[in-house]
Amino acid sequence: MTPIWQAELTRIVYIALFAAIVGWLSGSMAWALTTVMAIYITFALRFLQRLDYWLEHNSNEEPPESWGIWGYLFDKMYRHQRRYQQQQQRLTEIINKVQRSSGALRDAVVMIDQHGCLEWWNRAAEGLLGFRSPTDKGQALTNLLRDPRFISYYDKQDYQDPLVLTSPMDDNVMLEYQITIFGRNERLMLVRNITRLYRLEQMRKDFVANVSHELRTPLTVINGYLETFADYSDQLPPRWGRATNQMQQQSRRMQNIINDLLLLSRLETTDIEGQQQHIEIGIMLESIMQDAELLSGDKEHKIRIDLRTSAQVIGSENELRSAISNLVFNAVKYTPPGSTIEMTWQELPQSSGAVLIVEDNGEGIDARHLPRLTERFYRVDKGRSAETGGTGLGLAIVKHVLLRHNAKLDIKSEVGRGTRFTCIFPDLRLIWPGEEARHHNEALARSPELSDLAAQPGDNFRQ
Ligand code: ADP
Repeated sequence: MTPIWQAELTRIVYIALFAAIVGWLSGSMAWALTTVMAIYITFALRFLQRLDYWLEHNSNEEPPESWGIWGYLFDKMYRHQRRYQQQQQRLTEIINKVQRSSGALRDAVVMIDQHGCLEWWNRAAEGLLGFRSPTDKGQALTNLLRDPRFISYYDKQDYQDPLVLTSPMDDNVMLEYQITIFGRNERLMLVRNITRLYRLEQMRKDFVANVSHELRTPLTVINGYLETFADYSDQLPPRWGRATNQMQQQSRRMQNIINDLLLLSRLETTDIEGQQQHIEIGIMLESIMQDAELLSGDKEHKIRIDLRTSAQVIGSENELRSAISNLVFNAVKYTPPGSTIEMTWQELPQSSGAVLIVEDNGEGIDARHLPRLTERFYRVDKGRSAETGGTGLGLAIVKHVLLRHNAKLDIKSEVGRGTRFTCIFPDLRLIWPGEEARHHNEALARSPELSDLAAQPGDNFRQ
């Protein structure tokens, strides 16, 4: 097919030819050519004006009648226009559908622009967060949700873990905030009402705490009698002596489990804020080493301390002692006699914190167990753990204690080569001898959510 501009060029050539013939016949070539060209230009201008009018006023309707290159252009524009309108209609339908479906959601959905202002939200957001439409549109989100913990979570831009807070509308409602960054630093915030889950979790905690507490007294009595029996074991028939021994062992194990359960519930329910001691890690490791050597006895583990920093940790001495003892005693319990256990306390580069490493060269743990190791009652080898008097709660306690100190636990292990437990403490939990507590207090004030981390109910759901 001939391109349209070629057809138009041919037409112009014909018209010029026609004008030339008329000019030649009439003897006035210039006049004829000028007249014909003027007529052509007039037509072109007329179509241009129609095109302008059509585009301006009713481009949705059919284009005006025209011919030649103009007819072609009008049709092409009209087709483009129709296609564009159809696409726009489809997009509008999709947007409406998305808005209708998210409007029907029970969870709040909030879209925040790159300046941190509210762009769009669904109806649930009005009930859960108290946003008002349309007055709050364009308002800064942190002006509407003013809880300092939310503001610091929002500003930190690390949204890997959700945030759990009470609803600004009702103190009895617990909300879980989840934020995702998309596009050009825009954010999508999902807010879920988790009150029921939270209450169930609370009931679970209360139940465990109450049962453990109630079982403690009868067990103490049973243990007391068993100890008396054991004192007179030489007067008992041999069969009874063995039975008493076993009963004593098992009731001690039960007592250990109950003590660990009570410790865990205390860690879950109490605030660490009151306990801000400056803990000398070196001294603590020394005394843990002595206890571990006693535990090792004639198994003769080689226990070493490598102290590379004088940094102290701010927190609860009892809790940290219990966590680190758990790691070191585990290393004694789960490694063969004569194994080496090393405790290292060192700073991380660029003042990013410090790490306490407990490493052994024992049998190691298979990689498939590692993700579940800090779960309550999770044991790699049930028989062995029971044999060593393990409760299966030790690493859960370690995890909780570290969490209350804004620290994290990292476990690396290789079967046949050994295991390494690393407790990573953030800089804001450290202090150097002679340094004022100012450093710590300022850091905590700058990041209020960290000081609340211990009391974060959300974390308990992720165990
Ligand atoms: P338990 O009271 O049974 O020791 P923990 O929670 O302290 O429970 O430990 C969980 C499991 O992790 C243990 O049963 C043991 O199998 C494994 N474990 C812990 N520390 C070590 C270690 N240093 N080397 C090998 N296995 C270990």
